[in-house]
Amino acid sequence: MSTKEKPILGIVVPCYNEEEALPDSAEALDHKLSDLIEKGLVSEKSFVLFSNDGSKDGTAAYLNQICHKNPHFYMIDLLKNVGHQYALLAGMQTAAEFCDCVITIDADLQQDIEAMDDFLEAYRKGYEVVYGVRNDRSADGFFKKMTASAFYGLMHLLGADIKSNSADYRLMSADAVRSLSEYGESNLFLRGLIPYMGYPSDTVYFDVKERQKGKSKYTFSKMLTLAFDGITSFSDRPLKMIGTVGILMFIFSLGMILHSVITYIIGANQPGYTTTVISIWMVGGLLMISMGVLGAYIGKIYSETKHRPRYQIKNTILPGKKE
Ligand code: UDP
Ligand code: MG
Repeated sequence: MSTKEKPILGIVVPCYNEEEALPDSAEALDHKLSDLIEKGLVSEKSFVLFSNDGSKDGTAAYLNQICHKNPHFYMIDLLKNVGHQYALLAGMQTAAEFCDCVITIDADLQQDIEAMDDFLEAYRKGYEVVYGVRNDRSADGFFKKMTASAFYGLMHLLGADIKSNSADYRLMSADAVRSLSEYGESNLFLRGLIPYMGYPSDTVYFDVKERQKGKSKYTFSKMLTLAFDGITSFSDRPLKMIGTVGILMFIFSLGMILHSVITYIIGANQPGYTTTVISIWMVGGLLMISMGVLGAYIGKIYSETKHRPRYQIKNTILPGKKE
């Protein structure tokens, strides 16, 4: 039987302080997996792999317990909190060794779990990557909606190839995950990197629910970091814009010189205090912004050149390693 028809599916779930959400989510995932196996859509060797991202609550203990009870549950335990993107990467890379395709989904199951059937159908048709895209953002708060649309708008403006409202809910073949592993970048932004790889891909639309248990683990600063990584990893336009701004300012200052010479000649010159002060502040401000942009990219170069491991795994419960 070809593995496309009945693949071994690995569902990867990143978890950071999710002890409140996990009991319900684990149960729903277990049902869904049994359902997929029963329908003959995936192999009975399919599994759920939880990627514990250095949680500080009872998540690790809870995962340990359910992984020993449920033959379809596995886990990796990361040494420390490395963030959603790296927790996903760790989970996908580990899962890819034991399955034909992976689907990643958040631990709060805000994404509609039923869409997995559509993901698998696209996989059977031969797509190696299937993106989940939100139908709408009605479940998100006003603030999240605004920041998300500002982010995607800015990304498109800066020339990055990224699907609006795509989520980290997607299917990837094990081969696609292996080639993702060859991209060794330390500043990981999966939503930009995966389309960049260029695998044949399809899109599945799904509904987003509100988070039922626990609080969002995406603090404002984590969101900013993600947006920032997304922009600086996929566009060097901000760097180029510095040059453009410089040229515009130079032209502007020529006009200012002309203006002051003319006012001097016709004898209408003012003490010029206001213009001087404004110019100083404006030039100073623009310089600082430009230095900030340069600094941001240099910071990225710095973190890339260190070649640090992107995550480290402390413990695992994996296929073949359960007693
Ligand atoms: N998450 C993680 N590491 C972190 C932050 C979040 O693994 O440092 C996981 C979290 O457990 C969840 C997913 O990333 O499975 C998405 O987080 P959340 O639902 O809190 O984000 P939101 O839906 O509010 O964007
Ligand atoms: Mg969520």
